[in-house]
Amino acid sequence: MTVHFPFQNSYSALPDSFFARVAPTPVAAPRLIKLNRPLALQLGLDPDLLETPEGAAILAGKTVPEGADPIAMAYAGHQFGHFVPQLGDGRAILLGEVIDRDGVRRDIQLKGSGPTPFSRRGDGRAALGPVLREYIVSEAMFALGIPTTRSLAAVFTGEHVIRETALPGAVLTRVAASHIRVGTFQFFAARRDTEAVRRLADHVIVRHYPGLRDLERPYHALLAGVVERQANLIARWLLVGFIHGVMNTDNSSISGETIDYGPCAFMDTYNPSQVFSSIDEMGRYAYANQPRIALWNLTRLAECLLPLFSDEQEKAVAEAQDILGAFTETFSTAYQAGLRKKVGLFTERDGDEALIQDLLDAMAKNQADFTLTFRKLGDAAVDDSADARAQFMEPAAFDEWAGRWRARIALDSQSATERQAAMHAVNPMFIPRNHRVEAVIQAAVNDDNYAPFEELVKVLAKPFDDQPAYTAYADPPLPDQRVLQTFCGT
Ligand code: AMP
Ligand code: MG
Repeated sequence: MTVHFPFQNSYSALPDSFFARVAPTPVAAPRLIKLNRPLALQLGLDPDLLETPEGAAILAGKTVPEGADPIAMAYAGHQFGHFVPQLGDGRAILLGEVIDRDGVRRDIQLKGSGPTPFSRRGDGRAALGPVLREYIVSEAMFALGIPTTRSLAAVFTGEHVIRETALPGAVLTRVAASHIRVGTFQFFAARRDTEAVRRLADHVIVRHYPGLRDLERPYHALLAGVVERQANLIARWLLVGFIHGVMNTDNSSISGETIDYGPCAFMDTYNPSQVFSSIDEMGRYAYANQPRIALWNLTRLAECLLPLFSDEQEKAVAEAQDILGAFTETFSTAYQAGLRKKVGLFTERDGDEALIQDLLDAMAKNQADFTLTFRKLGDAAVDDSADARAQFMEPAAFDEWAGRWRARIALDSQSATERQAAMHAVNPMFIPRNHRVEAVIQAAVNDDNYAPFEELVKVLAKPFDDQPAYTAYADPPLPDQRVLQTFCGT
C-alpha cells in the first residue's frame, strides 16, 4: 500500500505570477517525531501509512506524493511597519489541497523543506526547536477552540541547520484553511496588478466566504468579512493571554486563522504591555496592542482592495473606512462578552464592564497569574476564594473585589455549580506555558528525548479538564524557570 493524498489543487491553477513551482529538497535520514493521527483522519489520510518510512519520507519532503503540485506562494508584507514588496514562501512548500471530512478545503504545506525562489539569503530550513514550539502551541490553540493552522506532523531530517550554532533540523507539516495572507494581496497591489488582486479576491471569496459570491458588492463584503473574523480572533487571543509576537501583514491570515507561530507566547502574570519576542524591541506587538495592530493590518488590506471598490478613489476610500470602522465595535463586543463569561456573569448589567476592568487592574498591580486567576475564580463560585486570592501579591486587593463580585453574581439566577461549570468551560486550566515549552525543546534537542513533548501535547489537548495527574502543568514558572524572551529561530 502506498500513502494516498486525495489532492485537489486550486491555488496552483491560478496564474503563474501567484507562485513558483518548486519541489522540496530531499533530506538525509527522515524520522517521524510525531504524527497527529486525529488530524490525519480528519483530512482523509491513513495515519498507519503515514507512520511508515514511506510516510515519513513524504512528510520530510524526500518524496513528493502522487497528485501533489508543489509550489511556493508569492507574497509581500509590512514587517514591523516597513513594507517589503517581495517575501514569499522562503522555507515552505505547499504540496496541495485536500477536502477534509467536513468538506473544507485545507492546504497541506511543508515548512522547512528547502530553498525556494523566495528564500533570499535563507537556507529554506527549520530547526527542531521552533518546529516543536509551533506543533505544541498551534495544537493547544486548536484545543482551546481558537481558529488556527494545525500541525499534522513533525519530522526530524537527520541533517543539521546552521543558526548561531549547528542545530538539529526538522520539517513541520502545516495544515491551513489556506495560506493566503494580507501580504498576498499586497504583493499584487504593490505591482499595480489590479486584475491579479481581483483574481485573488475571487479565489478567496469562493474558498473562505462563499456566502458573499452573489452579493451586489462582493469585494466590500469580503473586506467586512475579514474584518469580522480578525476582530473575533484577536478577542479570543486576548481572552487566553496569547501574544502572537510577529503580527506582520504577511502573518495575518485572510481566512481568520492564527498563523505563523514564531516567538509567540502565553503570558503567565497578567501584564497588558507584555512582550516576549526578542526582535520586538519597541513593543509594537505587545499583548494589549494586538487589536490596534490587527486594524492597522486590515487597513493595508483595504488599500489593496480600493481599485475593486470604485474607480473614484475618494468614494472607494470612504467606503473602506466605513467598513474598517466596524472593527472596534466587533472586537469590543466579542472581548467584553468573553470577559463576562470568564467571570461567570450570565446577564448583562450596568457596571459589569467596570467591575471586570477593576479585576484586570488589580491583577496587573498584583502580578496575578492570568490563567489561574480566572480558573480559580470558577472554584470560588462554589467554594471559598483561597486559591483565587493566593494569585494576588496583596490578597486584600482580591478580597475587596470579590465582595463586589459576589454581590453581582447573586443577581443572576444560575446555581453555583452551574456557574463553576460555565466558567471552567471558558477558563483553561492548562496553557502552553513558556517554561514548559522550553523544557520540552531542551529535552528533544539536547537528549533526543521526546517523552516530555508527548506528555505536554497530551495534557494541552484537554485544556479545560482538571486532569488531576498533571496539575504541575498548570503551575506558573518558579522565579528561576521564567522565560523572559522568545525567538523566531529562523
Ligand atoms: P516569518 O518570520 O517566518 O514569518 O518569515 C518571514 C519571511 O522570511 C518569509 O518570507 C519566510 O519565508 C522567510 N524566511 C524565514 N526563515 C527562512 C529561512 N530559514 N530560509 C528562507 N526564508 C526564510
Ligand atoms: Mg511568516
